[in-house]
Amino acid sequence: MNVREILIAGGGIGGLAAALALAQKGRRVRVLEKAAEFGEIGYGIQMGPNVARMLDRLGVLKNLEHASFFPQALIFADALSNEEISRISLGKVFVDRYKFRYFVIHRRDLLGGLLDACRRREEIVLSPSCGLKTFKKANDAILVTCDNGVEIEGAALIGADGLWSPTRQAVIADGAPRMAGHYVYRGVVPTGEVADRSRIDTMTIWGGPDLHMVQYRLQGGAVMNNVATICSRRARRGEPDPGAPDELEEIFARTHPGVRDNLRYVSRERNWVLHDRDPATNWTDGRVTLLGDAAHPTLQYLAQGAQMAIEDGVVLAEKVAAAGQDYNRAFLAYQRERMNRTARVVLSSRFFGEYIHVDGGARELRNELARGRDQDHPWEVDWLYKGIEINDKL
Ligand SMILES: Cc1cc2nc3c(=O)[nH]c(=O)nc-3n(C[C@H](O)[C@H](O)[C@H](O)COP(=O)(O)OP(=O)(O)OC[C@H]3O[C@@H](n4cnc5c(N)ncnc54)[C@H](O)[C@@H]3O)c2cc1C
Repeated sequence: MNVREILIAGGGIGGLAAALALAQKGRRVRVLEKAAEFGEIGYGIQMGPNVARMLDRLGVLKNLEHASFFPQALIFADALSNEEISRISLGKVFVDRYKFRYFVIHRRDLLGGLLDACRRREEIVLSPSCGLKTFKKANDAILVTCDNGVEIEGAALIGADGLWSPTRQAVIADGAPRMAGHYVYRGVVPTGEVADRSRIDTMTIWGGPDLHMVQYRLQGGAVMNNVATICSRRARRGEPDPGAPDELEEIFARTHPGVRDNLRYVSRERNWVLHDRDPATNWTDGRVTLLGDAAHPTLQYLAQGAQMAIEDGVVLAEKVAAAGQDYNRAFLAYQRERMNRTARVVLSSRFFGEYIHVDGGARELRNELARGRDQDHPWEVDWLYKGIEINDKL
């Protein structure tokens, strides 16, 4: 076992998954989290079979089951007509094909499951209120200065510090992420309050011109997660108040009344401004590397940002275990293995964002092509859901 800890900046989903994966390989880890408590926002998150396999490997999947919801299908519907256009059935054929189930879960339940598992491992130290401010290289070590003034030395540093990652700015120095001009409103309500119950057991996404709406249940089905997204026309025109609540109403005005009605389940109190980045080719500098949104932030249209962060952690730990004390070799091998898969997610998410938001002739064509999809053979998502090559023997 190593004497010096590996430092992870950021205790979100990606940082905690990486800590667990490294601990499984016998490495000592310290997670430096900027916030006073490890936590997540109060909304849902989708988890495909590719990441269910990773969570199983990390020993947390079983404990998440009681809080999860297992939709019967992923449905794509047209927001103007409310017509179902295509579906991926998530029953036995899906599970036979991808080996694990598709599930949806409250973010706090997911993070809580990872956190519990981290707390049970003696190799992991959790340090809240200890945000990375700067770091420097010192021979065979990394010296991190935290925003509370504490200095911590580690064998290596993993920047899992999210979209606005300071670690990334030290490694790549590529400035702010790209604003997509897309704005998200969310809300969670008791399932009993939802008026249209026709698709209540599914994950449904309604796509429309410059908008989409997503609904799925959480916490064993007790509550409904609602997400409304708009591509702001004001942002495109450089006008004030892009994505404000009145623009949400304005853009949804053309949708089918049954779809528009779902807007009452989302809060207007705050919105999220979406960002991503063009895929980078170097996340690594010596004993420092990046993971999750710090490395490859993506739009949410394939629902894979957190899933990629968890996959990153598992691959990173494998490479560290294989490289002994040579962290640079491990990190370069990790980056090589993760770069194209995560780039494909980033670029496909942009494409899927275009695809769901079209109007006019493009909408007609999209719907015609999507209607031809075989609900039991969604070969287009094989590359994603079949997951990554890992050594299943720990
Ligand atoms: C609307 C929306 C829907 C989404 N839906 C899905 C989905 O269904 N499925 C999916 O897989 N993904 C989804 N995502 C993407 C997902 O939320 C992110 O990809 C994921 O949270 C990234 O995890 P992370 O750990 O890399 O970063 P983060 O979750 O951002 O965690 C970073 C952590 O680092 C901490 N931190 C920040 N700065 C510092 C510092 N200097 N020092 C120490 N700590 C620091 C933060 O406090 C935080 O705890 C969605 C995103 C959005 C916006």
